[in-house]
Amino acid sequence: MDFSEKQLTEETNRLFQALKKTGWSKADCEVIAPLTLEINQIKKEKNTIILGHSYMTPDIMYGVADIVGDSYGLSKAAKETKADTIVFCSVHFMAETAKIMNPDKTVIVPAIAGCSLAESITTNDVRELRQNYPEAGVVCYVNTTAAVKAECDACCTSSNALKIIEALPQKKVIFLPDELMAKNLQPLTKKKIISWTGRCIVHEEFTPETIEEVRKEYPNAKILAHLECMPEVIEKVDMAGGTEGMIKYIEKTPAKELMLVTECGLSDRMKVEHPEKKIIGSCALCLYMKKIMLKDVLQALKSPTPEQIIDIPDDVIKKAKKALNKMVKITERYEK
Ligand code: SF4
Repeated sequence: MDFSEKQLTEETNRLFQALKKTGWSKADCEVIAPLTLEINQIKKEKNTIILGHSYMTPDIMYGVADIVGDSYGLSKAAKETKADTIVFCSVHFMAETAKIMNPDKTVIVPAIAGCSLAESITTNDVRELRQNYPEAGVVCYVNTTAAVKAECDACCTSSNALKIIEALPQKKVIFLPDELMAKNLQPLTKKKIISWTGRCIVHEEFTPETIEEVRKEYPNAKILAHLECMPEVIEKVDMAGGTEGMIKYIEKTPAKELMLVTECGLSDRMKVEHPEKKIIGSCALCLYMKKIMLKDVLQALKSPTPEQIIDIPDDVIKKAKKALNKMVKITERYEK
């Protein structure tokens, strides 16, 4: 596609305004300007919405995404959109969630990217857990495949996990697949949580020593950690929660220095959206999320391959939707 000098200069300036806080130079922005212009033009022509997870690189979040958010926010956006096609810049299970919410829409992923949590459990594992604990309700974290969601009573995200566990009628709850999140949630509820053995390969890397080093270097910083970190880390921080909870905390706190113990995409996002604060990033990259690049978004928009188009059997959609709707219903009850 050809663009005029004026269009390219304006696009470079637009990108630089957003990305400079994350270390991008004007020359870097100049390089990607033709790509972002082309993607944004095609997306309009094809009535397509681009959703970007907070762990994407800043060029995707601020260059081409129409909505940036966490898994729950993006699932809601996917449900509400009037666009015919959704390009979901995130890992595969999240795009599956968008498809479950919108079976009539075309949902495309720019790269086939997994997740250590989603890959840690199969449908047979869930069935076996149910057999072993017939008296327990089953809550699955959103980081699971559509097929696993279809085997569960309710789905949850890191922001609403506790509310969902509390809302189930059973006294015992199988919480899967994140072992560390289950450990972090157990002290917050009287219910007995039965966990699985999945772990997020990004968040399990943080140690109590990481926090101690940050405290020494930035004694005034508030430290926020994701609930996928180990309990020994959570004990040492000022706030623990999901992505959305961390964002809300940053918006409200008078603290000027904040350290985010999570994937570095969120730190980039907060640097752009809160230039008045000093955000100390963690440099922890999710290799699954970072598989998606602008060139993949363009290719997927232009001519997606069959593997990039999310396809889920109808019976799985029906059952997984029940678990997701339960989460939405319970969460909305709390929001009222
Ligand atoms: S950050 Fe962890 S939980 Fe999120 S996609 Fe990557 S591996 Fe999965």
